[in-house]
Amino acid sequence: MTRKLPIALTLLALAVPAGAAAYEINEKVSSDGRVVTYYNAAPEHDWAVEQGVRAWNESGADVEFVEAPRREAELALVAETQGLKGHARSTHRGDGVQRPGDGRISLPVASGDAREQRFSVALIAAHELGHILGLDHEDSGCATMNATITAAAPIRCEQPPAKQWRCGLLEEDDIRGVVELYGGRVDPPRRRYCPKVRPKPKPPPPLPLDPPTPAPADPVALTPADAIEVTSDPGGSSRVLVRWRNGESERIRSVVVARSRVSCPSEPDGLERKTVDAVPGQQGTVTFPLELESACYAVWSRDRKGTLSRRPATAWLDGPASPDAPRSFEATLAPSHPLGDSAISLRWRNAEASTLRKVVIARAKGRCPTRPPRRPRSWDAPAAAADAFQKHRDLRFYPGADAEGHCYAVWSRDRFGRLSRPATAWPKVAAPEEEVIVLAG
Ligand SMILES: [Zn+2]
Repeated sequence: MTRKLPIALTLLALAVPAGAAAYEINEKVSSDGRVVTYYNAAPEHDWAVEQGVRAWNESGADVEFVEAPRREAELALVAETQGLKGHARSTHRGDGVQRPGDGRISLPVASGDAREQRFSVALIAAHELGHILGLDHEDSGCATMNATITAAAPIRCEQPPAKQWRCGLLEEDDIRGVVELYGGRVDPPRRRYCPKVRPKPKPPPPLPLDPPTPAPADPVALTPADAIEVTSDPGGSSRVLVRWRNGESERIRSVVVARSRVSCPSEPDGLERKTVDAVPGQQGTVTFPLELESACYAVWSRDRKGTLSRRPATAWLDGPASPDAPRSFEATLAPSHPLGDSAISLRWRNAEASTLRKVVIARAKGRCPTRPPRRPRSWDAPAAAADAFQKHRDLRFYPGADAEGHCYAVWSRDRFGRLSRPATAWPKVAAPEEEVIVLAG
């Protein structure tokens, strides 16, 4: 459905220079920010989807795509089209509350040169995400929402030079359209083109050592559950702790630990890795920053000459679960004597997740809020410690007699920006403290 709104046309006349492209709005949905939870069911396109998501999240528009488990995600991305093309469909609900499965983006089934195709898939992903946000095709000038995209750029845009790709992904016109829908500011990407970086070619196999020495013994592989733990460091930022026991060979001097999101690696080249000194037979540890994605961690031992063990000890670690909602959430109308008025006190117990960073609070009249404020102020998003009771006073709201007509909702938010389901509560009026008057006599 294409609906051209008068407001969009007015804005075109006011704000868009003559000859510039003008976004087309498919459907006016909301003017107050938009969070879209998504699940990428096409891991082969992880990189491309990440580029498209980041382009929108950094566009300045009040929109945010946030990764979520499949059963909770409003939008699913699936590899199912033949050839380099995509498709998006989206249900806009009258109540403004999107439900899991309301959006679906079809991406190409990977074929041929996947490394080359990923640049086109990133462009397709950015375009289809634009549809999910409510943009229609725009063909009057260069825009990511051009109806046709060549392998390297939207058809009305300049093509990138050889060996470069259009890493900016969005044009000012696209961002202007989404800002019109949800607010924010137009913040076009600083770089339009980037070099197509290819993975480094494998180095030739090392020449045989003279005399040939056997590779050092493999580190003793503990069971994956024992080998790897996730802990929070004292500073509160979550880390992945990798722990292993070194092999017994006296030739072991150091250990190389690497991680890969794709598969368990057979060599550490080109991966995020750390090298630490090793004592034969002793336990060793390193830490990595905690990530959202699952990854395989691999540990090689190394001798004085830098020869690696033939194979690594490996273990997978799943990404951290989304936080649970706060528990035992209560709202109470309590007198606030110094101000001669009453205020709402909130109380809850935080979720146990070590990745918890904040809770986000919202209030609505006559109904419970179903989504958090798009850009919560600091007092609506207090820091939260895992598994602790927390109190909060809504000091900017003096409801008077109408207190019980407002519903509060509170969400857990983790360090990756993921939200829990909300816990909700209608305020109860605190029972007045009984006054005991002792009469003399
Ligand atoms: Zn399209």
